Amino acid sequence: MTSGKVNNEISKPYMGVMEMKLKFLGTSGAMGIPIWSCNCKTCSSEDRKNKRYRPSLMVEIDDNIIIIDFGQDFRNQLIENKIAKIDYAFLTHTHGDHCNGSEQLSAAENCIFEAPKDVLEEFFDRQGSSREWLATRNETIKIREFCKKQIGNVEIDTIKLEHQKDYLETPVPCYGYIFRSSDFSFAYLSDYNKILETEKCENLDLIISDASGMENSGLGHVGVKGALEIYKEYEPKKMILTHIKHTTEHYELQEYVSQFGNIEVAYDGMEIQI
Ligand SMILES: [Zn+2]
Ligand SMILES: [Zn+2]
Ligand SMILES: [Zn+2]
Repeated sequence: MTSGKVNNEISKPYMGVMEMKLKFLGTSGAMGIPIWSCNCKTCSSEDRKNKRYRPSLMVEIDDNIIIIDFGQDFRNQLIENKIAKIDYAFLTHTHGDHCNGSEQLSAAENCIFEAPKDVLEEFFDRQGSSREWLATRNETIKIREFCKKQIGNVEIDTIKLEHQKDYLETPVPCYGYIFRSSDFSFAYLSDYNKILETEKCENLDLIISDASGMENSGLGHVGVKGALEIYKEYEPKKMILTHIKHTTEHYELQEYVSQFGNIEVAYDGMEIQI
């Protein structure tokens, strides 16, 4: 684990009022919504909240742009949201819906791409012929192991999760990211069937959770009902559900989860200003 280390390079005394903004760039699971061959109610819906790109979250802290995950839709997400720069790109794990848009990072000037050591190793293994692909195309990119860090007055750390074994039955290293300041704290847990570092989930204002299907699929996702259990157990002030499947229509899911507390279903473009 890397949680003991603090990256002093960007750790600077904080002066002034922090502004933090979250924006959901994508809120689907692996397939995106609509699914091209599906005629279900969600996939046929014209409502923009039922149209979802692969999962990605943008966090703005003052003028720093942090992107968590960059799947197959990343190019469109960058263009449509008019994102002009990326200061940090954090990766949760190496499933395609989270990292298959990584080539777009080759066009990001002075970007720092970080992930925990085991995720980074696996990312390079899956890159094919060249471990240095990104670095050879972008001389300004820094690729390195994630270190616990502070940006503005926000401390950023990882949280180890259990996610599915992949089709080769080898474990997929997977992490969430936790942001804490004196004003606000949240965890982004997009894919998991179990939280391994549970103590890090205490006293959070917001948990953004996996909600891939209603039931726990047994394939590495807690699903909506598992997320509700996490909400009950850790009692964040608010929960937002993401990694949504077409089997749950946005408004029906919102109505269902509202009865359990302060829980909102994310949609592409959803913003939270802190
Ligand atoms: Zn996923
Ligand atoms: Zn469908
Ligand atoms: Zn995954």
